[in-house]
Amino acid sequence: FFFFFANHGNFLHDVVFSMKFYLNGDFVAKEDAKISVFDHGLLYGDGVFEGIRVYGGCVFKLVEHLERLEYSAKAILLQLPLDREEMKKAVCDTCRINGLENGYVRLVVTRGPGHLGLSPDGCGPGNVIIIADDIQLYPEELYRTGLKIISVPTRRINSSALPPAIKSLNYLNNILAKIEAKKVGFQEALMLNDKGEIAECTGDNVFIISKGILFTPPLDAGSLRGITRGAVLDLAAELKLSCREQALTRYDLWTAEECFLTGTAAEVIPCVEVDHRKVGDGLPGVITRRLIDLFRKMVLTEGVNLNE
Ligand code: PMP
Repeated sequence: FFFFFANHGNFLHDVVFSMKFYLNGDFVAKEDAKISVFDHGLLYGDGVFEGIRVYGGCVFKLVEHLERLEYSAKAILLQLPLDREEMKKAVCDTCRINGLENGYVRLVVTRGPGHLGLSPDGCGPGNVIIIADDIQLYPEELYRTGLKIISVPTRRINSSALPPAIKSLNYLNNILAKIEAKKVGFQEALMLNDKGEIAECTGDNVFIISKGILFTPPLDAGSLRGITRGAVLDLAAELKLSCREQALTRYDLWTAEECFLTGTAAEVIPCVEVDHRKVGDGLPGVITRRLIDLFRKMVLTEGVNLNE
């Protein structure tokens, strides 16, 4: 057995511990999780998705994520194959079957297989894919030391061209920005809209604290209606912090006392440098640290409990 295990350890590990992915009602192994090359999700990025976290056996803000998925689907005239309750069950079952108590869930709905043309006529049914995984986007140390970000040439897509509130499978705009940041040694890019205002980062919303007031760009500046953004606005209201959704410029970030980013994967992460300018004294701010603490408590209490 030991000889066998020594030679096939990885294989055995994969068989025993491998995750099962949800694919249209079935739970399949990673290597069997396949869809058609004619799926318009692949051919054109035609589909919608959500990234969801599970903390201590609770699916954080699941209802909010499902609502955003429904809005995204409605906006692109995509009929979701499952209703709210069915989708909820599919997500929770995927977590349960994989014993996922803490992790990340990627819920994807594609337009489905069709012809090579752009028109979704004749496409379908859409594929529903749910992937459960471990996640560690940034090392824990960065939450204490803070992230450095840089604004990049690629602008956030104009909301009249494609509303940024739609969480579609077409992320090229953000991918280009991410590549530009990485090429110059930064992990995250600050994206501006075509007016030169702050829109968001490639996968996170942006907040600053200036003269004790919490600011974040309004959604029409080109930001996704982040679930974490909403959670932080709720926490700020509990703290009786004044909050304003207001157009922000790079100058506002350069001169802010504090800055942080929010996102499902990143959670609340301090940002200590923007475009080579230190934010405040270059250390995560007091209010940011307080919000991180509160957010970390909140994730354990708000969500759908997998064990109930
Ligand atoms: N903006 C973009 C472009 C994103 O993709 C995301 C997260 N996926 C966010 C902001 C943050 O949103 P949430 O807090 O819902 O994860």
